[in-house]
Amino acid sequence: MRIIFLGPPGAGKGTQSERICKDYNIVQLSTGDILRANRNLGTDLGKKAQSYMDSGALVPDDLIIEMIRVELKNPNLANGYILDGFPRTVPQAEALDKLLQELGQELDTVLVLEVPNEELLKRLTARRICRICGKSYHLIYNPPKIEGTCDVEGGELYQRDDDKEEPIMNRLKVYEAQTMPLIEYYSKKNLVDKINGVGEIDFIYNQIQAVLNKYI
Ligand code: AMP
Repeated sequence: MRIIFLGPPGAGKGTQSERICKDYNIVQLSTGDILRANRNLGTDLGKKAQSYMDSGALVPDDLIIEMIRVELKNPNLANGYILDGFPRTVPQAEALDKLLQELGQELDTVLVLEVPNEELLKRLTARRICRICGKSYHLIYNPPKIEGTCDVEGGELYQRDDDKEEPIMNRLKVYEAQTMPLIEYYSKKNLVDKINGVGEIDFIYNQIQAVLNKYI
């Protein structure tokens, strides 16, 4: 199964992707996670991406497209994948179309997770991430068992620099201006399935399962 996961920052794409991957035996490809790993390793790509990421702006399309071109050829994606955080612009979506054509692959669905801005702001400012495995928590809705510590890895939980108020506002604006046009782009291809992203994690996941089970 091949899925694109669209939705504003903080909509819960990462949390839901984790469950989807387990249940449908596919792999999550998060461009944000790959970029953060590159930053931690101090690669050229990581250095180039840093200032854009910190301000909540998008990393230039050419860097992202090159990165995804390499990633999509990974043999561990043979059983399918979920693209989380990519594409984010129309040129990225067009480049992905070309890549998929080259690889002889087709998408099953574009899931669009819908959450209003006030709710996103509440979620993002209280989000904390494990330094080791990247698992995300919410201080109120989904707290770790031990404060400040990941349940899985025991790693320290930290707040992403771009999860502070100013970069968040910028990321929400960027989503509306650059990524929302993709809903129209994929609607024209009849690929969009909208999901109500407000409520309990299980409630949201049940809707996702109902959609994905159509494509098995
Ligand atoms: P995320 O973890 O998906 O919220 O991404 C964090 C940051 O990484 C974004 O605010 C961008 O600066 C950058 N980023 C991630 N994915 C992309 C993409 N597809 N295109 C451009 N920038 C991206």
